[in-house]
Amino acid sequence: MLEHDVIIVGGGLAGCRAAVEIARIDPSLNVAVVAKTHPIRSHSVAAQGGMAASLKNVDSADSWEAHAFDTVKGSDYLADQDAVEILTREAPDVVIDLEHMGVLFSRLNDGRIAQRAFGGHSHNRTCYAADKTGHAILHELVNNLRRYGVHIYQEWYVMRLILEEGQAKGVVMYRIEDGHIEVLRAKAVMFATGGYGRVYNTTSNDYASTGDGLAMTALAGLPLQDMEFVQFHPTGLYPVGVLISEAVRGEGAYLINSEGERFMERYAPSRMELAPRDITSRAIAYELRAGRGVHSDGSAGGPFVYLDLRHMGKEKIMSRVPFSWEEAHRLVGVDAVTQPMPVRPTIHYCMGGIPVNTEGQVRSSGDGLIDGFFAAGETACVSVHGANRLGSNSLLECVVYGRRTGASLAHFVQKRKLPIVDEQRYITEAQQEIQALLDQSGKYRINQVRQAFQDDMTQYCGVFRTEELMREGLNKVQELEEQYSQIYLDDKGSCWNTEIIEAFETRSLMVVGRMILESALNRQESRGAHFREDYPQRDDTNFLRHTMAYYSPAGIDIQYRPVAITMFQPQERKY
Ligand SMILES: Cc1cc2nc3c(=O)[nH]c(=O)nc-3n(C[C@H](O)[C@H](O)[C@H](O)COP(=O)(O)OP(=O)(O)OC[C@H]3O[C@@H](n4cnc5c(N)ncnc54)[C@H](O)[C@@H]3O)c2cc1C
Repeated sequence: MLEHDVIIVGGGLAGCRAAVEIARIDPSLNVAVVAKTHPIRSHSVAAQGGMAASLKNVDSADSWEAHAFDTVKGSDYLADQDAVEILTREAPDVVIDLEHMGVLFSRLNDGRIAQRAFGGHSHNRTCYAADKTGHAILHELVNNLRRYGVHIYQEWYVMRLILEEGQAKGVVMYRIEDGHIEVLRAKAVMFATGGYGRVYNTTSNDYASTGDGLAMTALAGLPLQDMEFVQFHPTGLYPVGVLISEAVRGEGAYLINSEGERFMERYAPSRMELAPRDITSRAIAYELRAGRGVHSDGSAGGPFVYLDLRHMGKEKIMSRVPFSWEEAHRLVGVDAVTQPMPVRPTIHYCMGGIPVNTEGQVRSSGDGLIDGFFAAGETACVSVHGANRLGSNSLLECVVYGRRTGASLAHFVQKRKLPIVDEQRYITEAQQEIQALLDQSGKYRINQVRQAFQDDMTQYCGVFRTEELMREGLNKVQELEEQYSQIYLDDKGSCWNTEIIEAFETRSLMVVGRMILESALNRQESRGAHFREDYPQRDDTNFLRHTMAYYSPAGIDIQYRPVAITMFQPQERKY
């Protein structure tokens, strides 16, 4: 059995930042990062637009309080304000710390870090490295992991969290290269496994964003919080769904419908294209519904709207958002200097996740904590984004809460012993699970079931939701769960058997999808990204609280816990 003081599952920004912090605090600790991809291929590397912090380099009127207010208002008042205070107060410090580690942020002429406008932020506070910010940060963090001697298990798939008597003791993992199974025990386990964009059929997320950490947590009997809040990013490139960063609108691009109108005038007259994402995505969806979308031949009534950069000029486009220009050129043959880009909303981010306190400790219930289990980043819900995340607050969350969670882990494991784990039992169970998959003489291919599931989630639990639609969605999901138990694998080998990984990932998607649907069905109001056509108003009397959903194969139990309101009383949200 392999042993470490701390195991971190996930090599993205949150996991790597935590590992660096542990090593800085106590270099004698033996820390491991496990990732099913190479860490540099974590989805964090794809983050484009930037990271918010009230550095005041561009806008001297900014403050952490203003950042906190924007974040809470953006969250439709569901964020926990104590967690938001920590996020926004610590933001300038974590940016400077990253810069000291070597991250190359874009600069102002006087050499200070540049800052741009972003949706829902009332000041120009987003720090960036052109439109490749995640790439710049993740590379430095991974270099630092190597410098600090953190052990990296790359391309190992974690199949199961070992949780016994309310204590996390380790994980069971599968080496993708040759099918070898290992049990890893540790004094503490942290999940930093990222989001679940692949639950839906059109997403900006990478193929690995399948919500495995969420599913493993739910299957271990622990709750997931606020899973109904799924963020659509307004500008996914049509038809591929790949992200066109909000930085493009931050730098001045317009959204235009088939009539050539800047339609945001109707929905958010004071913020226009820089309204928060939930509002902008719904505005595009309304335009498409009203027949003011565009077809590929330029005629009205089609499936996308235009993102128009032409007035920005070639020099600005190429210096500030070169990657977005390149994506549109490479993927759909559009030269944004002379042509508008076709866009429509795409699934982008999960506001919900594994509930944690502000030290990164996982909650077992409304007020209990799990011993030795921590989480941070997109997979966690602390909750700083509430019902809707503001752009450039997620990288920030990964770094602020990655650092804090690393610090609490470093202190937590002091003077603790390694737990006792029955290694053979877990290996045998994992082997049996895999053998059962290989032996199954089913009638469905994984891809068939997964695609149908992603289509159903998109259709029945998308931008607009109703009880009737979601009940139908739950029936469909149940049928697909039955089909999943009858899948067959062509590849029976152990060398790079990607079908086994796809089967595990599809199971994760299905557990997460059911949690989203059930949580959404129970929230009979509209708030942030969760929009119920049958309950179009926000209802603070009954629903100003966090959903806590507990999974079991027989059904999902929904409970609620209170929101921390420490600074700003809920108001009507207008832009
Ligand atoms: C295209 C795009 C652009 C974005 N742009 C911005 C932006 O400009 N600003 C901003 O603030 N936010 C942005 N976001 C959001 C932000 O990038 C993410 O929320 C954040 O990077 C998530 O980081 P993370 O560390 O939580 O997880 P990730 O970076 O997703 O890493 C997850 C890790 O977990 C590992 N893992 C998962 N499951 C398993 C398993 N079963 N076994 C082993 N390992 C596992 C993966 O291999 C990976 O290493 C963007 C997101 C996308 C998709």
